[in-house]
Amino acid sequence: MEISYQSTRGGEAGVTASQAILKGLAADGGLFMPSFIPKLDKSMKELSAMTYQETAYEVMKLYLTDYSSQELKSCIEQAYDSKFDTEEIAPLAKADGAYYLELYHGSTIAFKDMALSILPHLMTVAAKKNQVKNKIVILTATSGDTGKAAMAGFADVEGTEIIVFYPKDGVSRVQELQMVTQKGENTHVAAIHGNFDDAQTGVKKIFGDKEFARMLDEKGFQLSSANSINIGRLVPQVVYYVYAYAKLLSCEEISDGEEINVTVPTGNFGNILAAYLAKQMGVPIKTLICASNENKVLYDFFQTGTYDRNRDFILTSSPSMDILISSNLERLVYLSAGCDAEANGALMKELGDKGSYTVTAGMKHFMEDFMGGFAGEEETRAAIRKVFEDTGYLIDPHTGVAACVYDQYKAETRDQTKNIIASTASPYKFAGSVLEAIEGEQEEPDEFRIIDHLEKVSRVPVPQAVEEIRTAPVRHDTVCDADKMKEAVVSFLS
Ligand SMILES: *Cc1c(COP(=O)(O)O)cnc(C)c1O
Repeated sequence: MEISYQSTRGGEAGVTASQAILKGLAADGGLFMPSFIPKLDKSMKELSAMTYQETAYEVMKLYLTDYSSQELKSCIEQAYDSKFDTEEIAPLAKADGAYYLELYHGSTIAFKDMALSILPHLMTVAAKKNQVKNKIVILTATSGDTGKAAMAGFADVEGTEIIVFYPKDGVSRVQELQMVTQKGENTHVAAIHGNFDDAQTGVKKIFGDKEFARMLDEKGFQLSSANSINIGRLVPQVVYYVYAYAKLLSCEEISDGEEINVTVPTGNFGNILAAYLAKQMGVPIKTLICASNENKVLYDFFQTGTYDRNRDFILTSSPSMDILISSNLERLVYLSAGCDAEANGALMKELGDKGSYTVTAGMKHFMEDFMGGFAGEEETRAAIRKVFEDTGYLIDPHTGVAACVYDQYKAETRDQTKNIIASTASPYKFAGSVLEAIEGEQEEPDEFRIIDHLEKVSRVPVPQAVEEIRTAPVRHDTVCDADKMKEAVVSFLS
């Protein structure tokens, strides 16, 4: 059945999947949502015999209905290939009473690769399908991982330019090095004086600027997004939850139909929303445990029904989750309002005007499958240390937040349901924090000495992506103010 996409704020409807991917964000500032959530048309038993690529096809074909099966298969083949360092693409590791779904085996060693290795292919097919003559400019705000993964995906892709904004002091050393050494004639990076929310708000503002869009159009450009607001990010992320369940089934870790929980370290709410879509498609998932760091705006929301961004922005050791405006939550709010775009739009207007909104009791009830938790810095370090000391398994600080929240959840609820923890980054992306967690505070200022030391202690080999930036020359050094992002875009494109 054909699926169309509509804006969560009511301004656009009847948009095809490929058009929604091209646009990224709807013209009214809303996010595209499918007209219905499709059900899987293969049984879990059938899926349990499939490769990652085959599973990807079974999931994505249900959402991207204006792509031919040939087009979709070709996108999948080009995305999930030897760029990943394991044929499984997203392997599961059993450690310390949970299954860790390792989403960091792609070329930039964070889970953003799962969607951003396919988005450029989906985008170029979409451009052809819709006879786009303009060059597509991918405009992206990053809390550290999206930027690199998007550039790696779009580097030298014909007909595209990619521009990334990241918070100057809000990313890890490895994250920054990965971005500023990025190759590709069409890649552009700017650090901004500000935090991730400033970067994301700036990007959304540029998207909403109709005059600017007209000016770009005259010059032969049009904007799109590689952030998780793009439906082309969200749909590929559903795949690994289906795949993980099917894998647990084929390894006889669970029985067919057995419910599992998932714990997801959350920032912009894209990853956990993908898990929710998987559940709605028929994967037996019971509770979705939403793990936050000290920026616990989502925890408070699930507790009280009030979303309130009016609070201090805290820089933590899990920078990819240092976010106070969690964009994809809008999609859940929209669903919880019975797809009432007007009701959702009113709440988002309140968020913009006064920084907070409260959902109705009925909407809160709709979200009961979600459970919020949060972990402080010391608790996160303790969780990383505990998993490593008990099992020898090494996790990064984002995954550490999730491990900690999962332990709290078990202690509080006594729920024995088997659990998947989304493991979102290689520990080497945050080597300093990880080493500090297992060995105490570090004096060493040199990032690569820390990395080598971590390898010695953990016996986990340093990934290729880290080796590459050891000696790579810096190619990008633009720094700008948060209110000068538009000017930066103009200068990058001229
Ligand atoms: C982006 C990111 C997250 C948060 O994911 P969302 O989809 O934004 O909730 C968590 N961990 C890491 C390592 C990330 O890069």
